[in-house]
Amino acid sequence: MAERMLQFTHVERKMPDKREAKARADDFAEIYAEFSKEAAGAQAARCSQCGVPFCQQGCPLSNNIPDWLKLAAENRLEEAWQVSSATNNMPEICGRICPQDRLCEGICTIQQSGHGTVTIGSIEKYITDTAWEEGWVTPIKPPRERSQSAGIIGAGPGGLAAAEQLRRKGYRVTVYDAYDRGGGLLVYGIPGFKLEKHVVERRIKRLEESGITFKFNTRIGEQVSLSTLRAEHDTVLIATGVYAAKDLKCPGSGAQGVYPALEYLTASNRKGFGDAVPAYDDGALNAEGKRVVVIGGGDTAMDCVRTAIRQGAKQVTCLYRRDRANMPGSQREVQNAEEEGVVFEWLASPEAILDTKAGKVKAVRANRMKLGEPDASGRQSPVKTGESFDVKADMVIKALGFDPEDLPELFGEEALTVNRWGAVRVDYATMETSLPGVYAAGDIVRGASLVVWAIKDGRDAAEAMHKAMRAAARSETVAAE
Ligand SMILES: Cc1cc2nc3c(=O)[nH]c(=O)nc-3n(C[C@H](O)[C@H](O)[C@H](O)COP(=O)(O)OP(=O)(O)OC[C@H]3O[C@@H](n4cnc5c(N)ncnc54)[C@H](O)[C@@H]3O)c2cc1C
Ligand code: SF4
Repeated sequence: MAERMLQFTHVERKMPDKREAKARADDFAEIYAEFSKEAAGAQAARCSQCGVPFCQQGCPLSNNIPDWLKLAAENRLEEAWQVSSATNNMPEICGRICPQDRLCEGICTIQQSGHGTVTIGSIEKYITDTAWEEGWVTPIKPPRERSQSAGIIGAGPGGLAAAEQLRRKGYRVTVYDAYDRGGGLLVYGIPGFKLEKHVVERRIKRLEESGITFKFNTRIGEQVSLSTLRAEHDTVLIATGVYAAKDLKCPGSGAQGVYPALEYLTASNRKGFGDAVPAYDDGALNAEGKRVVVIGGGDTAMDCVRTAIRQGAKQVTCLYRRDRANMPGSQREVQNAEEEGVVFEWLASPEAILDTKAGKVKAVRANRMKLGEPDASGRQSPVKTGESFDVKADMVIKALGFDPEDLPELFGEEALTVNRWGAVRVDYATMETSLPGVYAAGDIVRGASLVVWAIKDGRDAAEAMHKAMRAAARSETVAAE
């Protein structure tokens, strides 16, 4: 068969050196805005107190944004922090990594009137960072201790928020996690240039000092069964996140140098902690000096391209099968990546990974796509144009999204009901699963989502768990009388 003619449309661009990349990261105003008291106050004072708090409606936690902006504008930072932390267990984390352009800031009245949003996330970060510096954030001292206990599977934001809420009410709380430290994707997924690791560590330390027990390196379903947990605790929360990476289905995807996104990011994050990571140290998971191709268009893909730049990659290209407007990732992240030198190949879908005789990746062959008819979801489906092109690569990162693991099988609990995508089904009024007394929160319920939604779910589940335990305690008292 005659070999198809390839069009080499890919443009090689100069990558910023490490110093430039760092300078640009330092300019990443939304996250790194290091406000002075005056600057934070001035930004907070831009809030018109419009009386129609759209921003609050745009926040999954319904944070009382206008009130803490007003208090910050009046330099009443401790009160602002109290209002902010009443509805959010980790405001300084959300302030750093929420996609505010799609949430509170995107809907801000000032933004809608064309004057540029009040930078709500940066002020939220500033208020709670100040609270930590000033020593206002202290361990929880519940008003009374209760004898009942909760077992929480997963120390990501969903599990941590639930653990904190239950401890506040005086329950004994144990958090089990398969990893060796707490935080879930806050520590091993999201890169340190977006969320500094010490910011998560101090949260975990505070929860430990509040009397919450953490059992790390404990994978429920393997080392300990779910039924053991249910017998040990009065209530159990499943907050295990989603970790089954969607795979690349094209020839050559098994070539040496092709890695799943989370493997790549976890290695980089572990290096940030100073851990020994042989696969990074031997160069395999280090992008330095390499031509890197990242496949995918979500926030995980953006984290991969921006991490590769910081590692000193020679060239970083992102392939996404739809166009820019239809990209699932935050537009702000795309803009940052572009400013840092990432080349985006929109409307490009991998056709094959090309490798050397030794089986090492050397290029990605991509189909040029166009947007066709809308599918059932209303989104235009990408279709092939018949054109293709190659992008040279020494490393390929697959960032195609995540599915839930098969939890009924892992936990040996067929009665645990999941939906057709494998996410745990809950009664949304209570977050209770099909197993009585077992609740679920975060990505394992929603599919891959956001930190702020995991926090909301964790808080909602904790409230329902508290109500159920209180009702059980009351009926025990009545029975004993
Ligand atoms: C690369 C990347 C970047 C992201 N960036 C952002 C961002 O900028 N902003 C944002 O809002 N969201 C972001 N997200 C999404 C966000 O991280 C998740 O929505 C959020 O962490 C979900 O919280 P969770 O508590 O449900 O699960 P996770 O954070 O995934 O935590 C689950 C925990 O459960 C543990 N676990 C799993 N199975 C078991 C088991 N059987 N036994 C014991 N422990 C178990 C895991 O070890 C993990 O610690 C990103 C996600 C990724 C992958
Ligand atoms: S939690 Fe997120 S959405 Fe809510 S106010 Fe903070 S940054 Fe905005």
